[in-house]
Amino acid sequence: MTRLALIAHDEKKDDLIEFAGEHEELLSGCELIATGTTGKRLNDETALDVDPVESGPQGGDLMIGAEVAKRALDGIVFLRDPLRAQPHEPDITALLRICDVHETAMATNLTSATFLIEGLEGREA
Ligand code: PGA
Repeated sequence: MTRLALIAHDEKKDDLIEFAGEHEELLSGCELIATGTTGKRLNDETALDVDPVESGPQGGDLMIGAEVAKRALDGIVFLRDPLRAQPHEPDITALLRICDVHETAMATNLTSATFLIEGLEGREA
């Protein structure tokens, strides 16, 4: 089963909820994990069943990075806020790096997230 991680910075959480709703059929066939606050919102506001890890600033990005290092994730949608500094920037950089180490697909905006999801759709077909 495809295993995905979903993460959104605060200013991007509404966008991720909407994106998840638009792709609910495909996403509901995947095993989903998310950073804490993102995961809670997805569980509360969509029909998806998401397994939340810690909140991003509390180490959640690193926990998702550990899943990448274990080759336990097929892809990540991480809607980053490009206009605000994040206190846990080093953790975000570590997550991007480990995705590059293991050739794990990561989409960081809605356009690339759509391509990632469409790619998965093709793979599932
Ligand atoms: P959050 O973390 O889902 O707990 O808000 C996201 C992040 O800031 O990386």
